[in-house]
Parts: sequence; C-alpha cells; structure tokens
Amino acid sequence: MRATPKDEVKVIKILGRLYTQKADMDMGSPEDTLLATLLSARTADAQVLRVFPGFRKKFPSWRSLAKADVSDIAQQISTIGLYKSKAKAIKGLAQMILADYGGRVPSAMEELVTFPGVGRKTASCVLSFAFGKPSIAVDTHVFRIVRRLGWSKGKTPEKVEADLAALLPQKCWSDINRVMVRFGRDICVGKPRCWRCPLVKFCAYKNKNLAESDF
Ligand code: SF4
Repeated sequence: MRATPKDEVKVIKILGRLYTQKADMDMGSPEDTLLATLLSARTADAQVLRVFPGFRKKFPSWRSLAKADVSDIAQQISTIGLYKSKAKAIKGLAQMILADYGGRVPSAMEELVTFPGVGRKTASCVLSFAFGKPSIAVDTHVFRIVRRLGWSKGKTPEKVEADLAALLPQKCWSDINRVMVRFGRDICVGKPRCWRCPLVKFCAYKNKNLAESDF
C-alpha cells in the first residue's frame, strides 16, 4: 500500500533515531565541505577522509589551489577516483571563487552549480551541511532507497529530488541524505537486509529479502 505523507516523515524520524552521526562529508566549513564532497564523487567517503587532511595541509587556501599546477593537486589526491579531472575542477573552482566571490563560498544553489565539478548533489550537501539550508542531496543511496520505498519512480536524481521535495516538508530535507547514506550502507544495501529493517511495513519493494541469508 502507498505510504501516506505522515508515514514518510515517520520514516525519516525512525532513521534519524537509528543514525545520529553527522554526514562524513560534513566538514564544518563551507570550503572544506565543498572540496570534500567534490572529491567524494564515485569514491568511498572513507578514502576521502584519509586523503583530506594531507591535501588541505598542502593547499590550505583558495589562493594556494588557484595558483597550483593541476599535476601537483592531482598528486595529492591520486588515490581518489577520477583524480585528474577532480584536480582540474578544483583549480578552476578556486579561481572562480576568488575572482567572482571574493574567496567566499556562495550559499545559493544557482551559484554553486556554476562551479566546475559541482552538480546539484554536491551543492545540496554544501547548502545543508555547511549553511544549514534545507536541501535534498540525491546520491546513489538516496536514489536506490527512495525508489524501493515507493516514494518515487524517477529515473534521474533530479526527478527523485523533485518527488522528495513534493512529499516531505522542508524541515526533513537535510536529514534525508545524512540518514539514508548510513541506512544504505548498513541495511538497505544492494541485496537488502530486509529481515532487520525497521521500515518493512512502510516499504513497497517487491523483492524484500526477509530471510537472513547474506552473513
Ligand atoms: S524493507 Fe528492505 S528494501 Fe525496503 S527499505 Fe527496508 S531494507 Fe530496503
């Protein structure tokens, strides 16, 4: 049966009680959150967390990144997926932030998505984690879980984001990514562990895995 809007809020609250930690890419400042989230595309967060302190030590400011050789930035992040294109994007981003924003990360979606390497997901992470603005970051976990729950049939992250925005009140938006990323690593994984899922009664997924089988 289709969940009611009240059920959807309940689901976010249940996951919020289960997963209380901040998001891995919530690095405190807008600068660090933007750079870390950009680096995390198609890369495990754990890998970004390993590399990030050394990367920031070597390039502590936008100015240092803007004037660096792309190859030097690439060398610092060489264990990260797509590191060459990310190094190029980071240099371009640093130059734009200095030239157009006086060295400050802007806090509007329309501005953030003009930066190289920054799409709606990265921009949403920056807005919600660093600026506390309601924003829905649809990554691979959110995309998979929301479709399994039956909240969206969207085939693109943009459509899933729009469906979520229509279903849930703004006060829930920033929690969606934070809790679903943890839930997507822990229970609603590729082959979901439905037998220990607190959302079974809210979930529309037809291929539920209710017998403990993959441990
Ligand atoms: S019941 Fe299974 S498919 Fe549905 S949300 Fe839980 S783990 Fe995911």
